[in-house]
Amino acid sequence: MTAPATVPALDTLRAEAISALDAASDLDALLTWERAYLGPKGALTAFLRSLGNLPADQRPEAGRSANALKIELQATFSGRHADVERSAIADRLAAEALDVTLPGRPHPIGTVHPISAMIDELSDIFALMGFRTVYGPEVETGHYNFDLLNIPADHPARDVWDTMIVDTGAGGPEIVLRTHTSPMQARTMETSTPPVRVVVPGRCYRYEAQDSSHEWMVHQLEGLAVDERITMADLKGVLAELARQLFGPTRRIRFRCDFFPFVEPGVDFAVDCAICDGTGCRVCKHTGWLEMGGAGMVHPDVLRGVGYDPERYTGFAFGLGIARMVMMKYGVDDVRAFAAGDLRFLRQFASLTA
Ligand SMILES: [Zn+2]
Repeated sequence: MTAPATVPALDTLRAEAISALDAASDLDALLTWERAYLGPKGALTAFLRSLGNLPADQRPEAGRSANALKIELQATFSGRHADVERSAIADRLAAEALDVTLPGRPHPIGTVHPISAMIDELSDIFALMGFRTVYGPEVETGHYNFDLLNIPADHPARDVWDTMIVDTGAGGPEIVLRTHTSPMQARTMETSTPPVRVVVPGRCYRYEAQDSSHEWMVHQLEGLAVDERITMADLKGVLAELARQLFGPTRRIRFRCDFFPFVEPGVDFAVDCAICDGTGCRVCKHTGWLEMGGAGMVHPDVLRGVGYDPERYTGFAFGLGIARMVMMKYGVDDVRAFAAGDLRFLRQFASLTA
């Protein structure tokens, strides 16, 4: 049997291998190349295995040449592998580079709702007059919502047409959605001793047809002050200060007799219209006055109901419609706008809280 010319065959293998290695441009191609030439089933391994077929005198030189080629190919492969890996990393870094000089993407920031902004403003004003802001439950018992406020079971305000009833109370307490923030009067007094000075902002619910000035859910702010020697003059002073803080230093307020079961005497109170200075305009419906809410001196029965001695303590209470304050201050003419979720409306108030 005639052996193949071994050295020329190895030269061909070398030329092929080097050219294939040059052509391998990524890590996958390099590994394929390694398997094809240096792997257990690769061309060089096959060549080494075939050495046994050579005549004995040619084997040592062919073996040396083949081993030298193996070392050369391994070294070239390692160098090439390192180059490709470096450039792959460089490519990836370039592709994933962050341009820290680019401007950031703006995240839309919400604005504080005008009702919330008004609650904050009112809380601040009352805090300066010594009132603490407290919050109460929106789901309330009839006991706190009505009984302790001198509203007996046969009072028209307890009628289903006004009150959202959660549980009529057969076999347990009557549960309602509070119709006003006034239940916190009793809750606060039950757990404090005079002097008491609190304001209570929060949602209230009435079973009511909606129109531009009525909503079935309204925000109220309740105020209560109880101490020895509190008089109607204190109530007037506090509400006058509120009107001036909200609507300007020259504002005047007006009290007119009104009836609420939990105060005696009771008043409604109004502020002279800041928009027309009391001469009459669309916002004040040409009366020159803007109604702010109801108030009065805490009824002795309410004080007695929470264990206060009405001979020793007196107090005043008031309730403000918060949406109404915003409407009066900013000339909003439809109360439904506050809960309608129209961002164009709400964003007009962004500057109030910026
Ligand atoms: Zn006016």
